[in-house]
Amino acid sequence: MKIRKTKPDTQVSTEKARILIVDDEYRMLASLQELLSNEGYHTDTALGGVSACERLTDSDVDLVLLDLNMGDMSGHEVMSFIAENEIDVATVVVSGESSFSHVSKALRRGAYDYIKKPYDPEELLNTVNNALQKVMLEKAHAAMQIRLKKSEELHRYIVNSSPDVVFMLDKQGCFTFLNKKVQALLGYNKADLIGKHYHTIVDPADRERANYIFTEQVGRQTGAWSSELRLRMRKETHESRHFEITFFPIENSATAKSSPDRILGTYGTARDITERKEAEEFINFQAYHDLLTRLPNRALFKDRLNLALAQSKRNGKHVAVMFLDLDRFKIVNDTLGHAMGDRLLQSVALRLESCVRKCDTLSRFGGDEFTLLLPAITASEDARTIAKKVINVLKEPFKLGDHEVFVGVSIGIAISPVGGETVEQLIQNADVAMYHVKGRGKDGYKFFSNSMSVTDSNRLNLERDIRLAIERNEFKVFYQPKVCSQTEKIIGVEALVRWQHPERGLVYPGDFIPLAEETRLMSDLNDWVLQTACTEVGSWLKNGHPEIRLSVNFSPLQVEHPKYVERLLSSLKTSRFPAQNLEIELTEDVIMKDLERMTKKLNKLAEHGVSIAIDDFGTGYSSLNYLSKLPIHTLKVDQSFVREIENTKDEACIVNAIVSMAHGLKLNIVAEGVETRVQLEYLKSLGCQEMQGFYFGRAVSAEQIMTRLNPPARSIAI
Ligand code: C2E
Ligand code: MG
Ligand code: MG
Repeated sequence: MKIRKTKPDTQVSTEKARILIVDDEYRMLASLQELLSNEGYHTDTALGGVSACERLTDSDVDLVLLDLNMGDMSGHEVMSFIAENEIDVATVVVSGESSFSHVSKALRRGAYDYIKKPYDPEELLNTVNNALQKVMLEKAHAAMQIRLKKSEELHRYIVNSSPDVVFMLDKQGCFTFLNKKVQALLGYNKADLIGKHYHTIVDPADRERANYIFTEQVGRQTGAWSSELRLRMRKETHESRHFEITFFPIENSATAKSSPDRILGTYGTARDITERKEAEEFINFQAYHDLLTRLPNRALFKDRLNLALAQSKRNGKHVAVMFLDLDRFKIVNDTLGHAMGDRLLQSVALRLESCVRKCDTLSRFGGDEFTLLLPAITASEDARTIAKKVINVLKEPFKLGDHEVFVGVSIGIAISPVGGETVEQLIQNADVAMYHVKGRGKDGYKFFSNSMSVTDSNRLNLERDIRLAIERNEFKVFYQPKVCSQTEKIIGVEALVRWQHPERGLVYPGDFIPLAEETRLMSDLNDWVLQTACTEVGSWLKNGHPEIRLSVNFSPLQVEHPKYVERLLSSLKTSRFPAQNLEIELTEDVIMKDLERMTKKLNKLAEHGVSIAIDDFGTGYSSLNYLSKLPIHTLKVDQSFVREIENTKDEACIVNAIVSMAHGLKLNIVAEGVETRVQLEYLKSLGCQEMQGFYFGRAVSAEQIMTRLNPPARSIAI
């Protein structure tokens, strides 16, 4: 017999269901099995309760058709077994017992239904189907629950192990969800932030922007929106980290696009980009700053200068560029080493910073050069004030370990538009002006004027050229005669170096000495001048002119060298030049820089018979104090005073004063730059014994001087 049942659509499939038929009557088992197999069910049979329990334990059964009265083990006991072992199976009792107590006991134990034997096949099949529907539905539901749980766990895992902070905000901007990462990255407990406004963690400096993004962008736009914001850490330091935050509006797709209720909130991720930001900042800093002093570098300076020039055109103010070059930095670097040199530069930078205003740009231009930009000045006096301030703050000695060093600064100033209208012009002209300060004894400032030669500013080329010139023997020593004012006879010569340039012709010391002094070249050059002069003049001494005295100029760099005295004496020894015939010319500032050490050096030289002259006297300190303490023999009156003799009475008075002072101190006096007979006569009347100047002759080569010393006929001027 085959009974057809129609299954409603909502029914779950029972095709794979397994049914266990339990009875202690073999016939019963066979009839039920046949009935169910005909319907397509998978069936199994157990003869008696014990066998049923075994099957239930071993195999997966969805439904049990259970007899109650069985010899070995009752159906109730089987049901107890099922309950105790938590076997997930539905039970339909098929029994001859029909007493209420049996039925209710079976139903209480969880039986799905009760069918009385002899059973009605249709009723049985219906009951079996219904029971299976229930059990299969429950099983499918349970499986679904497990899958859901797993899926939820997976998502939670993904969200929590995301490298980013994942968050959700409600419409007001308060946190409704945060993943665990917020603790690791910012130190907050999730619970502390839930319900709080996002403001709580945004760096105050970025709050306005965050507001804008949240209200303007996220509120109105659909789709993602990214921005970089700083979020504050929980720490008390309120340190912030950089985050790239991506916002996604959470939309309610059920509402109309234009509806204000469409946006439910915001979902977002915040990625920590602090390291990248810091790397970017460092690279940026490095590109525009000098790492040693942390000052802006050349590139940033030019950039700011460009900006300042553009602004000055609008506001009608002037832009000042100052070129600062440290004096004597090379000596520190060479004698104390680079580490000390670096420390000195850092200390200098700090002192310089104290002189400038916030709107000014102080930069390290390279080496010991600094540039200062004053972007909006009304008068050159503003720049002068700063220049004086800078010179003043660098006057104090610097302490470098056990050493105390003094550095000065030479400052060139160019002010727009006269000093240049472009970035390059202003820098170059300030540099030119700075070089004029160096050429005039350093440690001072000068404003650029058009009379300063720009071509001379090409220092790099010049430095290379000087190097080559030494190698190619292009330097020459010229000699300017020094005469006795009474006899007008040559009593000595001053060695003055010249550069016989292959293209430029004869180049004078003013054009290359300032630069040579900044490099080691001056030392080499001076050694060479001394050696050459001692050799050449030495030969005159031996050839009938033993009275001729040789004067040699020395650069500060050389004199400041710790081995200056030894080197000079050994040079005399090598050329066999008598020390008594040598006079060294030093300027006042060289002596005054380190009076104590200089006194020792000069005393030592004087002990060996070398004379010492103060060159360009009257232009520097002109202090009487030091003159009496030092072994000075000669004062050379600067030519500016001599030049003025015919013009002003005052200047003539200065010469008077210097000459009478020299007499008082029993010093020899030489007047420099005598060009006219009037000057000669006046100086003679003052009692000035020696003179030097174009009136008696310019500096000329050794051969030409020889013709002067051994003249075929009497002539004075050359
Ligand atoms: P200085 O030692 O004061 O030398 C005198 C300068 O005045 C020389 O210029 C000379 O040519 C110039 N002079 C002499 N008489 C007259 C005159 O009557 N009228 C005018 N207008 N000028 C006159 P020069 O040769 O150009 O040298 C300039 C400076 O360069 C020197 O000033 C000296 O400080 C320095 N110098 C020259 N040779 C050497 C050298 O071998 N070593 C060092 N360290 N410095 C040197
Ligand atoms: Mg001189
Ligand atoms: Mg002089």
